[in-house]
Amino acid sequence: MGDAMRAPCEASPPVRKRRYRRRRQLVKIYAAQGGICAGCGMSVPDIDDQRRSHPDAPTFDHVTSRAQGGTYHTLNGVMKHRRCNEDRGDRQPTGCDLIWQALIEVKFGWVYAGSPASTDFGA
Ligand SMILES: [Zn+2]
Repeated sequence: MGDAMRAPCEASPPVRKRRYRRRRQLVKIYAAQGGICAGCGMSVPDIDDQRRSHPDAPTFDHVTSRAQGGTYHTLNGVMKHRRCNEDRGDRQPTGCDLIWQALIEVKFGWVYAGSPASTDFGA
């Protein structure tokens, strides 16, 4: 049973490669958020300055939690201090989480892709 429960994308690449990809993802999200924590709105120390276990270290917070089927995709993540990420735990995303997520989508240009109608603001 165990293996069948795992999503294919989780099963394939070696762990080290996955970690590297997640780190690059976090760097991108960090840049899109301008280094501001999505949890408390304070700046997060530069990504390379802190050890991963530091409470202020930048972390990838799942907007849809892993327990509810959320993935590590960039679209499902906001950047938060480790302590702010741990504060939320598996609770539902807050309004702020969703606003930050929307901002990241805009920064990466994903929002309007293939949808010309949504760029027409009624003018
Ligand atoms: Zn924070």
